[in-house]
Amino acid sequence: MIENKEKLKKFQIIKNLSALYETISSVSLKAGRPSNEVGLMAVTKFHSAEEVKIVLEQGHRLFGENRVQEAEQKYSLLKQDYPDARLHLIGPLQTNKVRQAISLFDVIETLDRARLARALHKEQQNMGRCPDLYIQVNTGEEPQKAGVHPGELDELLKLSRTELKLPVKGLMCIPPADDEPALHFGFLATLARRHKLKTLSMGMSADFEAAIKLGTSHVRIGTSIFGNR
Ligand SMILES: *Cc1c(COP(=O)(O)O)cnc(C)c1O
Repeated sequence: MIENKEKLKKFQIIKNLSALYETISSVSLKAGRPSNEVGLMAVTKFHSAEEVKIVLEQGHRLFGENRVQEAEQKYSLLKQDYPDARLHLIGPLQTNKVRQAISLFDVIETLDRARLARALHKEQQNMGRCPDLYIQVNTGEEPQKAGVHPGELDELLKLSRTELKLPVKGLMCIPPADDEPALHFGFLATLARRHKLKTLSMGMSADFEAAIKLGTSHVRIGTSIFGNR
């Protein structure tokens, strides 16, 4: 009985994954973009290593996690078996976790303050490497949300990219829940163009079609692949 339940869940995840690949390519084509240009990031927070393995076995390689500790427990072994899997940090990063984060993640999407930029720089000097970084922008200027306010982006970029020479490659945002997401995606895309940043991380289960139309590089999806957390 339990075995059947596991099989059913596995079947459902595989079905969800392939349906999403199809939707993403058809939405891309409709938006005038190549069918394989937009990446699908499987967001695995609160889901088990066994569930992650199901999509790895399907050839999926792009993953997102919110917490350093949880990601380390889940991915340190998986990354040995699948060395080409790419893991992004998409949750807030505390300065005391920077060293761990640099060892584990291929991209940190949540650089959002000067103190963190300096901590990343310091560990980069110590460890001789730094993952690619995106700056998280709090496009809705919500007090409870992480991300640099748009008015302070120039200064943070100047510090991170120009002074500290950190590998800043893109921008990321999470729009306010009660706002039209397309406004925020369009705004983030404009900021990226202005600063000559090529990569955009925007769009989740509920709003990824708008993000694809507005130029995102990948969409971040958890629930529509793995079910409710
Ligand atoms: C959890 C999370 C997602 C995925 O959300 P779903 O609603 O499960 O698709 C995407 N981006 C970030 C930053 C998240 O924390």
